[in-house]
Amino acid sequence: MTILKSEAQSAQQKSKLSEFELIEQYFAPLAKTDAANIDIGIGDDCAVFSLKDNERLAVSVDTLVSGVHFPLQATPQQIASRAIAVSVSDLAAMGARPIGITLALTVPDNNPRWFAGFAQGLGQSLEQYSLQLLGGDTTRGALSVAVQVMGALPKGHALTRSGAKVGDLVFVSGYLGDGAAALESMSDGQINGDYFQNRFYQPRARIALGEKLLAVASAAIDISDGLLADVGHIAKASSVAIKIEQERLPISPALMEFGNRTQQLTWALTGGDDYELCFCVSPENKTEVKKLSDSLGLALTEIGYVEQGRGLQCLDGRGQKIDFEKGGYQHFNGDAL
Ligand code: ADP
Ligand code: MG
Repeated sequence: MTILKSEAQSAQQKSKLSEFELIEQYFAPLAKTDAANIDIGIGDDCAVFSLKDNERLAVSVDTLVSGVHFPLQATPQQIASRAIAVSVSDLAAMGARPIGITLALTVPDNNPRWFAGFAQGLGQSLEQYSLQLLGGDTTRGALSVAVQVMGALPKGHALTRSGAKVGDLVFVSGYLGDGAAALESMSDGQINGDYFQNRFYQPRARIALGEKLLAVASAAIDISDGLLADVGHIAKASSVAIKIEQERLPISPALMEFGNRTQQLTWALTGGDDYELCFCVSPENKTEVKKLSDSLGLALTEIGYVEQGRGLQCLDGRGQKIDFEKGGYQHFNGDAL
């Protein structure tokens, strides 16, 4: 791409050769050109791949900026694994099977140690989600990582935000609140140990669950901005009211040990970064959800229900509405959130 003159000077150090060497050394080896559906991989102007006849393409992109979406002290391995998981989670939320990614990487310099670590983390994550590295772009600037994911959906099927029906039950996978607890306490060192670090840097995108939910769920979303915000998107897109019962929220044993109940619930409800799936199913499908939970070895917890109306409400143990605000929460008797 042509760059503006003002950018040209700072970009002088971005010699084409070293950019090319970086790609050759660290990214090309991660690309498996023998993958059956990849016709043209890294090295040409575009990647070319095929879908099966009965499939459609699902595409999404997420950008992580250093100091905004991950702490400045994050290791290159951690940055890579988080970037992939966060992006792949959107495929899970649609019920798509991962195919491949393109990677737009902006780095302040071409430190080989950093690239080696990043490529190592990237390789592991690609393996974990059966993803091909299809191509990308490498530029100089403040550190940011954008991952575009591509996946396949069976024709005529997709998990959307807009399919929730009155009478549906609301479920969530895994545990809530760990991601926010990890992020908030990482800087002040309150939480130590691998569990929270891993929950933040290596969230498990729920691909297997998403694919199975295609036949079971009426609506789904992945939890990136916080349960209330994200379930609010389902309520809005589906033109229904959703009630969440806070006493049902799945809190991990590790989070139970940390902070008080109010803090745990605040993280679970309003903190983001969990990358679990929240989905709606008709009551007849409840046994299917139980079977899925058993077969995947993954907790799927009923946390609420869908009613006529609009908006989202969170209820306490006595059925009272709760108002969650940044930094805390309070009871109130007024409108829905
Ligand atoms: P162009 O100038 O045509 O955009 P580039 O020099 O940017 O080509 O990239 C050369 C090849 O290397 C392309 O196939 C591109 O997809 C690939 N590539 C560049 N950066 C990355 C990266 N960070 N990860 C994976 N592939 C990359
Ligand atoms: Mg390019």
